[in-house]
Amino acid sequence: MIYLDNAATTRPFDSVIQRMETFYKEAYFNPSALYAPAMRVEDELEKARDYINNVLGGGGKVFFTSCATESNTWVYHSARKNKKGNVVVSMGEHASGYENAQALLGQGVDVRFVRLTKSGTVDMADFMQKIDADTSLVSIIHCSNETGAVNDLRTLSEAVKRVAPQALFHSDGVQALGKLPVHCCALGVDLYSVSAHKIGGAKGVGALWVRDGIRLQPLIVGGGQEQNARSGTENVAGIVGFAEALRVFLQTDGKQIAMLRQDMQSALAGLENVTVHNAQENSPYILSFSVLGLKAEILQRKLAEQNILIGLGSACASRWKKNRVLAAMGYGMPHIEGNVRISFGANNLQDDMAYAQKTFIDTINALRTNIR
Ligand code: PLP
Repeated sequence: MIYLDNAATTRPFDSVIQRMETFYKEAYFNPSALYAPAMRVEDELEKARDYINNVLGGGGKVFFTSCATESNTWVYHSARKNKKGNVVVSMGEHASGYENAQALLGQGVDVRFVRLTKSGTVDMADFMQKIDADTSLVSIIHCSNETGAVNDLRTLSEAVKRVAPQALFHSDGVQALGKLPVHCCALGVDLYSVSAHKIGGAKGVGALWVRDGIRLQPLIVGGGQEQNARSGTENVAGIVGFAEALRVFLQTDGKQIAMLRQDMQSALAGLENVTVHNAQENSPYILSFSVLGLKAEILQRKLAEQNILIGLGSACASRWKKNRVLAAMGYGMPHIEGNVRISFGANNLQDDMAYAQKTFIDTINALRTNIR
């Protein structure tokens, strides 16, 4: 099987599973307990926290959550100081951001959605019109899970600090962690959401990086874990596995992945009526394109029959009739209906890709011939 849906989730690395197993079979103690074996577990938890903070550039603290959806939800519901001011969000957010923004809108909050350019990044002119002195929270996805378009967080955050110095700047970094250079402080980010299962860790483990000096209202209260910021016994195995996944992922050859993507893009660009959605700054891990005149679901099914698994935009959005992000980029139904996403991971091999490329092209041609 050739798995090309790594933006949906990844196969956990063997060393991650091994490490997690230890924390299920032997070191299963509650990290909040006060006896020595539990304290050793707590030490491991803290090491994982420090490691992830360091990879993100330091200068903040990592709070573990159950997933990035929770991290994003926490931000939207807690980050507005005194619950005042407007919230500025891009149209390109993952559903876990976008739907929370919609929920705030439903509660009467002044939420402003920023348009995207044709290449999927935030439209700077529209952004400048949406932020003002009353903006209290800005949330912009770092790398789009749909198209791989990378937003220039530094330029955006600088603009925010000029116009609304009190505003908090959040970014959803799920598709960027381990794949793009991330230094939260240098990017001007105050809050950054990440998830383990996109980089070879387990599902159900996320984190929110919070810049030093910022204190968010907890979303989940109870036993006071995570310094009272997020209650609930920590998923120690998952968290230790998260740090291990990041360590291994950072050793994978990003240049090799970029080449695989480039080869695939060149092969597809040779086909008639195929639009590749490529931003100037694009993740090497995601290739989004539309095959005009074909329904993406049919292409996906035909490829699956040949053991190639690809995605349709976001896995969370795959049930949607309409792709919100592509629509925000100004594309109409033919592009939306024919939109597929190939996303690469640490396990993809060059030899597999030669087969995948040929199968893609043959399948698209065969489906088109059948339609005619
Ligand atoms: N944000 C982005 C950009 C994603 O791609 C995803 C997962 O698809 C999420 C958030 C949600 O992550 P999780 O599955 O950890 O809730």
